Amino acid sequence: MSGNHTCRVCESSFDSEKALHIHESKKHPSKQAQDLQNLLQKFDEEASKVEELKQRKKDLEEKLEEERNQTEQLTDTVENLKTQKIELENTVEMKDGKIADLEDQLETERDAEDQLEKEVEQKEQRVEELREERDSLENSLADTENLINKFETQIDEMDKNL
Ligand SMILES: [Zn+2]
Repeated sequence: MSGNHTCRVCESSFDSEKALHIHESKKHPSKQAQDLQNLLQKFDEEASKVEELKQRKKDLEEKLEEERNQTEQLTDTVENLKTQKIELENTVEMKDGKIADLEDQLETERDAEDQLEKEVEQKEQRVEELREERDSLENSLADTENLINKFETQIDEMDKNL
């Protein structure tokens, strides 16, 4: 026998693949069983590879979903922080306005205080002037009393002499 299909166990050649298979199942049944076993094992390996790839795909999808959620949460947090920043800026602006108002009030009160101090000073000066006038009048009064006493003494003397 000669052909293109050679038996790998006994190296006999056959014209067709079918003839080779028939030969193998008749002459080397354990070889065919082994081939089948190998084929099945290969299927199992392929199947487990597919299973592994599916699991990896699932893991990646879960990771992606998790990252999407995290990104969403971060976006929310950034939004909240932006809102808080605007509120804080408004509060600072309001406080600045209040401070400016209080500074104006303080300025007005200081002006009023200065004015009052000037008035008090003017009144103290007036009191001093009035005291001086009174002292001067008291001196004049004392002089006048002395004069009266003098004249009365003179009159008494004149009476005695009369
Ligand atoms: Zn053979």
